[in-house]
Amino acid sequence: MRSPIARLIDAATGYKPTPARERVRIECPTCGRRQFTQLQDGDPPHTRTVIANCPDCCQAGDEDRVEFFDEKGKRIPQ
Ligand SMILES: [Zn+2]
Repeated sequence: MRSPIARLIDAATGYKPTPARERVRIECPTCGRRQFTQLQDGDPPHTRTVIANCPDCCQAGDEDRVEFFDEKGKRIPQ
């Protein structure tokens, strides 16, 4: 929560705080581990679930194997 004075300064300078990011669930398809995080830059905007190997299961070349799903469970094409 920004103070009223900070918000007045924001308004005067045109500064806009970064809006709250959507929470997304990351699931590892290998070990099933789930983790909640915030939407990252570059993620499709309507992402709710990300299927990606966790750091423990990630192997060379897996970095690109990421799938995004919206709130209805529909895969978001990239
Ligand atoms: Zn894993």
